[in-house]
Amino acid sequence: MKIYNLYGYLIVVLYLLACVYSAPARLGPWDGLLIGAAYFIFCWFMGGLYLADVLHLGIAHRSLDYKEWFIKAVTLVNNTFAIYVNPITWVNRHRLHHKNSDHDGDPNKISSDGIWRTLYLCLLPYQCQENLADDEILKSRSVQLVSTPIFAVVAQTANFWLLWKLFGSLKFALVMWFGVRIFGWWINMIQNYWTHTRKFGYRRYDDERDNAMNIGEWLPVTATFSACLQNNHHHYQTLLRLSHDESEYDFGFRTVKFMKSLGLVKATARGELVPPDVPLGALDF
Ligand SMILES: [Zn+2]
Repeated sequence: MKIYNLYGYLIVVLYLLACVYSAPARLGPWDGLLIGAAYFIFCWFMGGLYLADVLHLGIAHRSLDYKEWFIKAVTLVNNTFAIYVNPITWVNRHRLHHKNSDHDGDPNKISSDGIWRTLYLCLLPYQCQENLADDEILKSRSVQLVSTPIFAVVAQTANFWLLWKLFGSLKFALVMWFGVRIFGWWINMIQNYWTHTRKFGYRRYDDERDNAMNIGEWLPVTATFSACLQNNHHHYQTLLRLSHDESEYDFGFRTVKFMKSLGLVKATARGELVPPDVPLGALDF
């Protein structure tokens, strides 16, 4: 088993065991397990929807055109109840990451950074050297509100307090709150380290300018909503799907197709343009 998968499965198993052992007596271990799993799935799903589907393909690359109220609702719900990620600084860092991939100016990681340095950079990235996030949607009142430090502190404190009061145990709340964020940290490492280090994953395109790799196994693809198909994505940044072959498992694309069926999103002209050397019969969107 690949080392990144081993870490991922270990975090999931240890998290669930910790939920069982820390569950308060009035709940018992099985309810503790169920509640822990539900919180985990909620935070993972909201995080994927918010970061990979909405911020990444909807705003940063403008490959997808979402209903404006939906972008605002997902941003508010994720950052209030799940793991906080500032939308404006994230979009800026992501654009700088594409502009300077693996080189000076990439806020996530430069080529020579190892695993420990990148782990630290997930929490405190390199300073952004320019501002590439001037989109109108990022200037809207709700996105501006979510992006304030006071919102970040109040929302994350409040959702911890809510877990604590809802289930009546400080220990159980600490396990769930930190456990889910450790899994989020692993997802961030899939994106910033394992798919940007040439000894992991595979490449479809031999791009010299970056170290982007594709990682295609079930856990990382599901966890990141397919954002770990980095070599595909860096090669054609505006294409709305990150799998470039029908054989590549693409969980994120399935979620976007489902949202399309609900009328929440449609493709932009640049998003649906399939370059001729992408081995897809059709976009299938
Ligand atoms: Zn991107």
